[in-house]
Amino acid sequence: MNDALARLPKMDRVLDAPALAGVPWRRDIVRRVAESMLGALRVALREGKATEAIDAETLAARVAATLETWSTPHPTRVINATGVLLHTNLGRAPWSQAAIDAAAAAAGACDLEVELDSGVRGSRFAWMRPLLSAVIGAEDVHVVNNNAAALLIACTVLGAPGGVVLSHGQMVEIGDGFRVATMAAAGGCRIVGVGSTNRTHLADYEAALDPARGAPASAILWVHLSNFEQHGYVAEVELSALAALARARGVPLIADVGSGSLGGNLPGREPTVAAYLEAGADVVLASGDKLLGGPQAGLVAGGTAWVDRIRKHPMARALRPDKTTLAALHATALAHAAIDTTGGVPALPLHRMVAATMDELRTRARALAARLQLGDDAVVEVDATIGGGSLPGDRLASVAVRLPGRASALARRLRLGTPAVVGRIEDDAVLVDLRTVAPAQDDELAAAVLAAGRGT
Ligand SMILES: *Cc1c(COP(=O)(O)O)cnc(C)c1O
Repeated sequence: MNDALARLPKMDRVLDAPALAGVPWRRDIVRRVAESMLGALRVALREGKATEAIDAETLAARVAATLETWSTPHPTRVINATGVLLHTNLGRAPWSQAAIDAAAAAAGACDLEVELDSGVRGSRFAWMRPLLSAVIGAEDVHVVNNNAAALLIACTVLGAPGGVVLSHGQMVEIGDGFRVATMAAAGGCRIVGVGSTNRTHLADYEAALDPARGAPASAILWVHLSNFEQHGYVAEVELSALAALARARGVPLIADVGSGSLGGNLPGREPTVAAYLEAGADVVLASGDKLLGGPQAGLVAGGTAWVDRIRKHPMARALRPDKTTLAALHATALAHAAIDTTGGVPALPLHRMVAATMDELRTRARALAARLQLGDDAVVEVDATIGGGSLPGDRLASVAVRLPGRASALARRLRLGTPAVVGRIEDDAVLVDLRTVAPAQDDELAAAVLAAGRGT
């Protein structure tokens, strides 16, 4: 019915085309890509969405281009000039050089589960447990893949058999459609929602835990609001009041705090993991790559009796982190442990970025503006944020360079450069915020912006 369909090239001719001659890909993969392109074109021709056939050489060139895209390393490095320190889409906390070196050293054969002293089999966690516990200020700690995994295992293990009580006001959706209550329930844990969106009272929790009920809940789950705030006619029960109730009923209080600050030079409004434990949480769950400033990991910190039950559950095996994560986490913990000798600022990129003074940022921004042949009026004071679901609404004063040019087109050229630069668009201009750029990246940033500017 459409002779373009009949003119589509034979597969052998595509595969023999010069464009695909030397490509370093298995032939079945090359064929699969070509077949899927031909298939899509066939459908488009049938549906009248395309009218022209394609010749073998053009199709082969497209296949080669697709394979070339696939070969590009991913995820790869970008310069985060967004002003959002913990940008989930940009990989959250940047690792320290010590963490990178430690992970690289562990990447080959390593002493993950052997004690070199005695030669006997060891545990991948045992050696780090006392160190991490001391740094966090907890009796015990267990490490899993991420905070979502910590939530899953803590609720599955400690919430059995009656489920966890959770205020409707804390049923947070974090990013990408993930909801805390759904993750907590994913291992079969019952979620006993209490209260209302804006107001939950102690009596609501008491009722859910009442032994006179048919099936009282087995734990209390308290969730950090992370990325939003409630104002107006609102009421939540203090963590310490929940702790007293949990103790009276003999059930654990699980606090999912998300960001997991260990203190140091971070804004004091976000309590530390230790502060949540002191306030009475039995188990605190936190991410490794938010305010901790390390690799993606989930910390389960708290009393040994509770943490041990989690550690010994079969699910712990499915959620355990790999050797490179543990190595990077170890290096990150050491940086927190050493802050008395590093001026109160952990030797971690995140904490150094928070510590940068406005004067330092201004000096760097002026130098960048000068290299871009922009005047000092391109240097603007802006607000950066910590991000990563920590300290919602908190602003960190910062300094940016405002780039001239059509914002969306320039932003795209910056993203497609090497290295990619991700800025933010404000008032129809691209801003590169220096708060989230390591000073060692300033030269590269200037070169990348100059290169993107030449594309105009
Ligand atoms: C970020 C966050 C999570 C998820 O943490 P991941 O480490 O990304 O899995 C869970 N709960 C809260 C409250 C959070 O802020």
